[in-house]
Amino acid sequence: MKFFFDYERPELAEIFNPPFRATQIYKSVYQRRFEDFERMTDLPKPLRADLAEQWEIRLPAVHRRFDSSDGTRRYLVRLKDGEFAETVFIPEENRNTICISSQIGCALDCKFCLTGQLGLTRHLSAGEIVAQVLVAQRDHSSSDASFNIVLMGMGEPLHNYDNVMKAIRILHDENGLNMSMSRITLSTAGLLPGIERLAKEPMIPNLAISLTGATNEKRNALMPINRKYPIEQLLDAVHRFPLKHRQRVTFEYVLLEGVTDAPEDAFALVKLLQGIRAKVNLIPLNEAEELSYRRPSDAAVEQFQQILIDHNISAFIRKNRGNDISAACGQLKKKWAEVPA
Ligand code: SAH
Repeated sequence: MKFFFDYERPELAEIFNPPFRATQIYKSVYQRRFEDFERMTDLPKPLRADLAEQWEIRLPAVHRRFDSSDGTRRYLVRLKDGEFAETVFIPEENRNTICISSQIGCALDCKFCLTGQLGLTRHLSAGEIVAQVLVAQRDHSSSDASFNIVLMGMGEPLHNYDNVMKAIRILHDENGLNMSMSRITLSTAGLLPGIERLAKEPMIPNLAISLTGATNEKRNALMPINRKYPIEQLLDAVHRFPLKHRQRVTFEYVLLEGVTDAPEDAFALVKLLQGIRAKVNLIPLNEAEELSYRRPSDAAVEQFQQILIDHNISAFIRKNRGNDISAACGQLKKKWAEVPA
């Protein structure tokens, strides 16, 4: 069986005869949300039966769902080989956000990240990435009108470059979900060759850089990837990254008590971002038993933010959402994957 969500529409147009069937089926799957070919009464009946034998259009099952008191919902999406992709739906006033994973585990080993402790099990296919969005959306039928997608779940998206970009093209397809690129954000720990490749794509999502450390010394200790692609090279690539009118690069900065939260860290960050159209998201650490770092006090977080603002850098404090349902990246899988639904 071929997993329908793994295919771009132009690929399907090569497979189906006549090619316009590709568009027809795409619309039925992505817009009308049919999960059964029998419902596609605009297709000849024998074709429907044929398709049902060859193509899987049912979405993967939700192994478990965790509902936070703040409305955040986390899903463990069960994949064909029994692995779980972690997906989060975050309701916001104007627009909802769906946070999706690009890999099972991660190879980068950032010291404050739980997914890093899992190591990399495997890449997700394009369809497995796309399906997470549909699963989360299906569960929110009335409120799904407008939503953003962030690639900030498990995994390093640029380490799974081809599948991630394919998934983005599928989500963007006008006969599919028709997601605008400005509503998709790809977050990277700083895989330099991937950033350079992304800069040359015809369709480019928003870029977020996980910085968490404004000097090589700090970043080397927290994020081993920095030893390969040091901060100056990373920032240089960001300088060259093509931006649209009024578009900015987001820098994510995890605040770790006594490690990245001092005023001098904020000053170093200010210096680093000089001349970059940047926006900073400050993320107070999501604490977990397995992590040896602490979350700073609210006062320290606010002081850090104020220093950035005083230097004309837009800085936002990211609320820790879904704390009561194991909010930290990778936490959910670690705790719950073994528990039967
Ligand atoms: N690999 C990509 C995307 C996944 S991580 C990247 O690094 O950007 C998504 C974000 O969560 C990153 O900004 C990362 O720094 C942050 N993060 C990881 N562990 C965290 C924790 N325990 N608390 C708060 N933020 C964390």
